[in-house]
Amino acid sequence: MNISLIAHDEKKDLLVNFCVAYEYILEHHTLFATGTTGLRIMDQTKLNIHRFKSGPYGGDQQIGAKIAEDNMDLVIFLRDPMAAQPHEPDIQALIRLCDVHHVPIATNLASAELFIKAIERGDLDWRAIFKK
Ligand code: PGA
Repeated sequence: MNISLIAHDEKKDLLVNFCVAYEYILEHHTLFATGTTGLRIMDQTKLNIHRFKSGPYGGDQQIGAKIAEDNMDLVIFLRDPMAAQPHEPDIQALIRLCDVHHVPIATNLASAELFIKAIERGDLDWRAIFKK
């Protein structure tokens, strides 16, 4: 599965801890991330991550392009609901594309946990058929 990992600054520690906890699942998948998020995760885990540009510099849009090409199976995007982001239009566009292309997206830790356990169980294996 192709999985994207993104976290706003206030949520980066949370996502790093999530990746440490679920490294044993994530290591079996192809991982993508926005620039700083990817760097932080690779610092703390042995995960290999394709890093796009930092979010405010276009990283969200680069991930959006993968979604538009039906090349993304899951997005974990821990947003900061308490702070305005300079690239809010990019964030909205990414979420919208997930809805257009039926890509599961988790925007908080509780849903991220559900999705990662679903992936472990094979619940998202239908995505491979969907992409054919
Ligand atoms: P970053 O981007 O991982 O480069 O901080 C995340 C974002 O703000 O969308």
